[in-house]
Amino acid sequence: MKTELEVRASGTHEVFNQPPPLVDYNLFATDCVLSEALAREGADWARTRLEEFGRLVGTEEAIRWGFQANEYPPVLHTHDRFGHRIDEVEFHPAWHELMRLSVEHGLTSLPWADAKRGAHVARAALMLLASENEAGHTCPISMTYAVVPALRKQPEVAEEWEPRLHSSRYDPAFRPVREKSGGLMGMAMTEKQGGSDVRANTTLAEHTGSGEYLLTGHKWFCSAPMCDAFLVLAQALEGLTCFLVPRWTPDGERNRIHIQRLKSKLGNRSNASSEIEFEQAWARRIGEEGRGVRTIIEQVQHTRLDCVIGSASLMRQALVQAIHHARHRKAFGRVLIDQPLMQNVLADLAVESEAATVLMMRLARAFDSRESDGAEHGFARLATAVAKYWVCKRGPVYVNEALECLGGNGFVEECVLPRLYREAPLNSIWEGSGNVICLDILRAMKKEPEALESVATEIRLARGDDRRFDAFLGALEQHWDHPADELEARRLAERMALALQASLLIRHSIPEVADAFCATRLAGEGGRAFGTLPPGTNFAAILNRAF
Ligand SMILES: Cc1cc2nc3c(=O)[nH]c(=O)nc-3n(C[C@H](O)[C@H](O)[C@H](O)COP(=O)(O)OP(=O)(O)OC[C@H]3O[C@@H](n4cnc5c(N)ncnc54)[C@H](O)[C@@H]3O)c2cc1C
Repeated sequence: MKTELEVRASGTHEVFNQPPPLVDYNLFATDCVLSEALAREGADWARTRLEEFGRLVGTEEAIRWGFQANEYPPVLHTHDRFGHRIDEVEFHPAWHELMRLSVEHGLTSLPWADAKRGAHVARAALMLLASENEAGHTCPISMTYAVVPALRKQPEVAEEWEPRLHSSRYDPAFRPVREKSGGLMGMAMTEKQGGSDVRANTTLAEHTGSGEYLLTGHKWFCSAPMCDAFLVLAQALEGLTCFLVPRWTPDGERNRIHIQRLKSKLGNRSNASSEIEFEQAWARRIGEEGRGVRTIIEQVQHTRLDCVIGSASLMRQALVQAIHHARHRKAFGRVLIDQPLMQNVLADLAVESEAATVLMMRLARAFDSRESDGAEHGFARLATAVAKYWVCKRGPVYVNEALECLGGNGFVEECVLPRLYREAPLNSIWEGSGNVICLDILRAMKKEPEALESVATEIRLARGDDRRFDAFLGALEQHWDHPADELEARRLAERMALALQASLLIRHSIPEVADAFCATRLAGEGGRAFGTLPPGTNFAAILNRAF
């Protein structure tokens, strides 16, 4: 280091004590929790693909795409220069690069194109990595993946659309999908007067024959309006019905879907969340008339899995950034990571991130086997809602704490933390906000006791290994034996999520992580903020494992 005088002679100051940029690292190879879970949950065959994808999304170039896609947000063109409606959204090239990377690596299609055991697990891991780099583009990626089971309720439509959706080519051209090498799908349920309460939908569907309809109405949220088609709910004669609405009609005309405006919103700026209107838009029915909610629920369930993945991903990336910073930044004579209180904060964050990841990966396994295994079907039904509620709820407070580990640097937009922070509340709102999810948990427990039994069985697998866990489980069993009313639904959801996470960590993590989790999340030995693990905790073991 130069002496102060030498520095003064060559300029105002020397830049030092700043961490190097965290680029060109492999997001998968540096995540041992994800790597272990991949093998445990049945997708070790995908390891090479994950290693490659983890390397790609960690390159300086891909990280730059993430920043650019948010710095240059999409632009809506409602009309051409002659006054004709065109309803097109223009994206920065970086957006297209991110989309290409994710489509090419199977994030939209893997479990459907190659229905191998473990494919949902492999895809969940890929999705976690993609979203660590840039969350906005994973919205159309997620919806394209999630629509497939609902589409299959109308086999001839599925037959026509699936080959495009399962293509590993990203084709952003705005043309009829039959002229394209790959397609994407979105969905639009929420209307101005009702989002959670979809039965309040007022969009009308007029039957014109042979399963074809004309839709008139609006959608208050339609993310990714440049997709090739959308799953939509509208009122037909027999009641609320699910439809596929393509951007182009079979005659090769632009369908009458008018993009009114793009939302100015919290969260990412890369994705074009919009408001749309249907003016006699051409549509095809999916499933039976009047069974719209039942038809689209499969899509909802898969999107909820992606909400869990999305929040686990934000936590993981926030943790990695915090640890990286703390390893390089010195204060008061020591690097931050050697400061005991910082160790406590980082270790506490690492424990929470691991709990989110192991739960998300276990859940993804249930999606792999739920068709053939009744118990896994029940587990997926209830555990998806439980995990969606809790993991997404933890996101904002988590990212806030990780951001603080970077001090002022964490608040500056050139750093990824502000993007993670703005994104963090979204997963909790989307596809079932907190209360709605908790009410769904109660519904599932009452109407599908086998779902509760499956979750209970999974939790009980750790019984006998930790007295704090056993006590917590005993109290929880009392709780779920006496069906809770609505007022208690959040408490119940939280406790079920904690019990599931604890059970997974006790069985699959190192003892130091499981011990810290049980002490603070189950036995009340922690505080309300992060950084309150008890003094006997093995911080070094937890932090070495984390990154
Ligand atoms: C960035 C973004 C993108 C989106 N993209 C799409 C999209 O592509 N397609 C789409 O269809 N939708 C989309 N949405 C909409 C989203 O799914 C809805 O906002 C969400 O489902 C909640 O509906 P709502 O906004 O109408 O809120 P409401 O339904 O009005 O709910 C408001 C609050 O009341 C609570 N609540 C509701 N019912 C009850 C009850 N019975 N008891 C207690 N509390 C209750 C809810 O939990 C919530 O906290 C998007 C939203 C966002 C923020």
